[in-house]
Amino acid sequence: MGNQPYYHSTRGEERCSPKEAILKGIASDGGLFVWDDLDQVQLDLHTFLQLDYPGMVQTLFRRLLWDYSEEELAACAQAAYGDTFDDERITPLVYAGKQPVLELFHGPTSAFKDVALCMLPQLMSRALAGKDEKVMIVTATSGDTGKAALSGFQDAENIGITVFYPQGKVSAIQRLQMVTQPGRNVSVCAIEGNFDDAQSSVKALFQSEGARRLKEEEHIVLSSANSINIGRLIPQIVYYFAAYQQLLQQEKIQWGEEISFCVPTGNFGNVLAGYYAKLLGLPIRHLIVAANENKVLDDFLRTGIYDRNRSFHTTISPSMDILISSNLERMLYYMCGKDSEKIRGWMDELARMGRYQVDEETLQKIRNVFLSGHCDNAQTSLQIERVYRSCGYVMDPHTAVGSYVLEQLALTEPCVLLSTASPYKFTRDVLKALQVEAAADDFVCMEQLSELTKTSIPQGLYALKSMKERFSDVIEVTDMEAYVCAKAKEVLK
Ligand SMILES: *Cc1c(COP(=O)(O)O)cnc(C)c1O
Repeated sequence: MGNQPYYHSTRGEERCSPKEAILKGIASDGGLFVWDDLDQVQLDLHTFLQLDYPGMVQTLFRRLLWDYSEEELAACAQAAYGDTFDDERITPLVYAGKQPVLELFHGPTSAFKDVALCMLPQLMSRALAGKDEKVMIVTATSGDTGKAALSGFQDAENIGITVFYPQGKVSAIQRLQMVTQPGRNVSVCAIEGNFDDAQSSVKALFQSEGARRLKEEEHIVLSSANSINIGRLIPQIVYYFAAYQQLLQQEKIQWGEEISFCVPTGNFGNVLAGYYAKLLGLPIRHLIVAANENKVLDDFLRTGIYDRNRSFHTTISPSMDILISSNLERMLYYMCGKDSEKIRGWMDELARMGRYQVDEETLQKIRNVFLSGHCDNAQTSLQIERVYRSCGYVMDPHTAVGSYVLEQLALTEPCVLLSTASPYKFTRDVLKALQVEAAADDFVCMEQLSELTKTSIPQGLYALKSMKERFSDVIEVTDMEAYVCAKAKEVLK
């Protein structure tokens, strides 16, 4: 067992076992936990692809999260995927005309975040067992992570959760999903600012004086449910394999054939999981990063310059309205020769100047795998309509961004489009795209969409209609630290 994967910071030497990394979320130096020898894991692909979804989860986790026992992993997989998804394949591969689409939104909150956030609380509870410690999860959300995390952590023992969302910058349904969340250990708060403001402040919070005192005086540690946490990232790797498995079963590809994935991208967590699947041996040719009007990643992948000094756009794909994509740091780490010093330099420049440029060699390596494109609001709407008219498939605005970018690239290899949310989370914009006059009431909108497209409304979304709003706090970004400290003491008494 000498060769076990200890995780360490992208920015230095700090080393953690998997359980420790999951509890900490982010390294003390601000870096993200990575494992250097990911590409050395020898997964036997033939055997692996014979397994059902929970079986793949257990097998992969056994390798990457080795300090969990077999019993723990089996229990985690069962609790996360046993009966929480409305499709037994968990992530079914369907077709929009000829285009394969991997639907990632069949979990309890109707967005792809569920795939990981049904699992993370399971992993975290077991990492916490037997410790004299409680955990306060602090999460910034661009709309979907918040609800999926609240739902996953609801009433978890010795764990509390605070979610911050940008005021006025999430969809009506996304907001309702969060502010109606039941549970004695949850709190939800809007902030004056955008997602980047929220995420940067959350990251800073982990190193704050408030965090230090919570740990010292209350034995409460802060952790993250954002995709900076390996416990959130690793579960996302599995569905890339599940897509390949279904393509084989449907006889759309030959064994060993390379395929590509197109991923609507914001914080770079989803597409990074695809890169990890590639490092682990899945035959992936390209990973396509699809951006909306906040196209900082598309520009980076074309020029090697990451520059967040630009105006922020509020779009109809709000979960991708992000200018600082945290997980890019992990991809850069692998691509630049696992050089922590380089990473530190670039991230320093990003923090100080909002900009950095990677060297030509690193850029070439990246561009060999990652392609990109972007799609504005008008094109997104048109794409929703075009796809629906041509083949009857109705997609949400995030998926439509991916669909548009994929069509522009016109690749020759088979390519799977990841669908990241149910159209019913963004009903008003979808109806508008389909040229339907949307009713004033969001629930009537759902009924309109259902009648028009002959698809069913996800139960969890329609049920919001009769739920009470519990949370109405709105605060300044500068007050987040005090807010979290107060809530931690309150809900983790
Ligand atoms: C979070 C989210 C994205 C972006 O995923 P990242 O992992 O942040 O890149 C895309 N679409 C939807 C619907 C999301 O909720």
